Amino acid sequence: MFAEIILPLPLYATYTYAVPSRFEGMLQAGSRVLVQFGKKKYYTGLVETLHNNSPKGREVKEIIGLLDAAPIVRYPQLNLWKWISEYYLCSVGEVMRAALPSGLKPESETFVTLADESDLRALTEKEASVIMALSEKKGRMKISEIEARTEIRNIMPVVNALMESGIVAVDEKVVERYRSKKESYVAINLERGDMDGLHGFFDLTRRSVAQEKGLIAWLDMSGWLAQGKEEQPVKKEDFLKGGVSPNVLRGMISKGIFRIEKREINRFNPRSEHHESRLAKLSEAQQRAKDEIVANFREKKITLLHGLTGSGKTEIYTHLIDKCLQEGNQALFLVPEISLTTQLTDRLRRVFGDRLLVYHSKFSDNERVDIWKRLLGGREPLVVIGARSSLFLPFARLGLVIVDEEHESSYKQYDPAPRYNARDTATVLASMHGADVLLGSATPSVETYYKTQQGKYGLVTLSERYEGSTLPDVTLVDMTDQRKKKLNDGILSAPLKEALDKALSEGMQGIVFQNRRGYAPMVVCRQCGWTPRCENCDVSLVYHKNTDLLKCHYCGFTQLRPRTCPACGSNDIATYGYGTERIAEEIHQKFEGKRVARMDLDTTRNKDSYQEIIEEFASQQTDILVGTQMVSKGLDFAKVKVVGVVNADTLLNFPDFRSNERGFNMLSQVAGRAGRRREKGEVVIQSTRPKDRILQYVAAHDYEGYYRSEILEREKYGYPPFTKIVNIYIKHKDALTADRAAVALALRLREIFGARVLGPEKPFVSRVALWYLQTIMLKMETGVSMKKVKKLLREVYEEAAGEEYMKGTQIYYDVDPG
Ligand code: ADP
Ligand code: ZN
Ligand code: ZN
Repeated sequence: MFAEIILPLPLYATYTYAVPSRFEGMLQAGSRVLVQFGKKKYYTGLVETLHNNSPKGREVKEIIGLLDAAPIVRYPQLNLWKWISEYYLCSVGEVMRAALPSGLKPESETFVTLADESDLRALTEKEASVIMALSEKKGRMKISEIEARTEIRNIMPVVNALMESGIVAVDEKVVERYRSKKESYVAINLERGDMDGLHGFFDLTRRSVAQEKGLIAWLDMSGWLAQGKEEQPVKKEDFLKGGVSPNVLRGMISKGIFRIEKREINRFNPRSEHHESRLAKLSEAQQRAKDEIVANFREKKITLLHGLTGSGKTEIYTHLIDKCLQEGNQALFLVPEISLTTQLTDRLRRVFGDRLLVYHSKFSDNERVDIWKRLLGGREPLVVIGARSSLFLPFARLGLVIVDEEHESSYKQYDPAPRYNARDTATVLASMHGADVLLGSATPSVETYYKTQQGKYGLVTLSERYEGSTLPDVTLVDMTDQRKKKLNDGILSAPLKEALDKALSEGMQGIVFQNRRGYAPMVVCRQCGWTPRCENCDVSLVYHKNTDLLKCHYCGFTQLRPRTCPACGSNDIATYGYGTERIAEEIHQKFEGKRVARMDLDTTRNKDSYQEIIEEFASQQTDILVGTQMVSKGLDFAKVKVVGVVNADTLLNFPDFRSNERGFNMLSQVAGRAGRRREKGEVVIQSTRPKDRILQYVAAHDYEGYYRSEILEREKYGYPPFTKIVNIYIKHKDALTADRAAVALALRLREIFGARVLGPEKPFVSRVALWYLQTIMLKMETGVSMKKVKKLLREVYEEAAGEEYMKGTQIYYDVDPG
């Protein structure tokens, strides 16, 4: 018997292993096994299929271990993995790597042990620091630990040299990451009902009152003597709390009366108390929308809910989830970024209690494995809320999938493979389960809206805000004009300053949005024009005042701010431009006595800081919140009257076909944070191009108008949804080789696809983290069989891999780029 094994590697094929006789009959598709791959490495693999075809002319290794009694995936998960790998042009193993929480993927790690220090050959500096690190750690460490400790980037050559001299030894060990949580129980060494035995135990405890008490306490807690009832397990913890000392228990164990049993418990077991579901009553408009959605589902499995910001889409979702659970099915609620949804999760928790599972990237591996096992272990109606990877969970029977903010680009994974779009993949998953899909957004993606217009998706519109609060007034301010007439006060235009002043004096709050973190994006020597650039990327460094550092926002490279110009020695170094840090500082100075908070990547690095900032703002301990796009996402604050956009120019007119769409969405979403209750809100958008078409549509809250103009542009220039795009990325550490590889690859692609191949060209940022980048775009007209296109692309890839110029080159495809 043989098994085809999926390994978590970028290999396009599965690998064949022999099934040892001791595992026969125990393996199934989806079983987790441990296998050796290559000379030394051990991986967790998944059985794809079992068969009897002995691979010819090849030595076949045996499966080393079977990790669980039953498969850890369930139908149709493997089919979904396969679909992703075919559609997004990656390996099934890469999908597996993304799908399984790492706690379910034990892999071997390389350990280094100090062997013989007596060899006194002269050590290099790097070797010495490795030895030093090892001796501090009892002579044994993981490669990754040594790297972290010595801060030497590529440690393998150093270790190899030490190994050759016999100073260290290297071995591989499989590291199990998942620790199940176990609880101890006190069990009695008797068959239930064995009264003679029980009398014997009472005899044994006769001389110790404490032990006799302990025996009685146990009988009481377990209900062992109550014949009509099931025996209850007695937790050791509870037993000891009941007044039996650990000493007494130990004594009774040594007399053979009790034993300790360890049982695995799931961190996410339902708590027993019954939960009262608290659904809000829907408004008339919401009820109508909900009924329409349900009616739509009868004909169209995928429906879009186009609802204004603040129209109460979440309440509709909640009612639909409740209906789904009542029908005995499971529901999946996808959100773009789970860490930005504490408000939403709290609301759902209140309604669904223990039936809500949150699948969170900030959870530990153990917790994620427990959620996995909880789903795998049963078929109970549950709702899972999570970001894109939650669609890989082992659902038993999905009835409903909700994709909130379906337009969000973070549904698309860029790096690493699988480069999948979770919204689109969710529709495929749903169809495998026969589940309904509800896509929700105030600013639907052009592609999705187009499908509703084509009749492929259903469309339900909710065009009033909850409780009839009106959409905010939007003012577009011409910053060139403001500066010319000296009306502005620093970064704040007169209208924005006034609006904020007024709101604060009325006890209301404001949000100020700027899509750039740090203090200033540009640092320049005023004498010679020198600007600091990243060593690894083709970008200039951003100044962070709080830490007084210059940082690369692409690779994380950091350096101290130089006091004098390294090029000319002058100390006349100036900073230009505005990031959130500087804006918060300026606003703080201009609004005396008001409390200003900042929310961006830098202030939310700690686990709880995001939540703290939100809570402080919600409870009005802060008055103005300055932030990046984080403040635009789904937040619901009652007292926000004014929203200001510091500079809309940076959001528009990028050389990218999605730039208008992103700009419109982001501005509409930010604007939607204002005036979400009865009080009318006000939005001030600052720009040097207030006449811009997109800004005009934002100001008029005119999604339809924006969509019509955008779809015309897409058609005219041949972009999605009128074409299918595959981007091809070529990377090399040497600029010239990257260039050459890209030209050769483009040539080959043109032989097959002709004028549909565009490029190669250097992307906007052409070097990131030491890699030089080149891109080629393949634009296929819709109607062409993408299956065939992808087959050809795979062939080109495999063919290219053999070419000389491809040495050290990375190539990958990005299907439907975001
Ligand atoms: P959206 O997601 O469409 O932007 P929300 O779902 O956040 O809107 O709703 C906006 C606000 O209105 C929230 O504070 C929400 O609690 C409230 N709300 C919406 N519908 C109801 C309802 N049926 N009953 C009570 N409050 C509601
Ligand atoms: Zn200078
Ligand atoms: Zn960098």
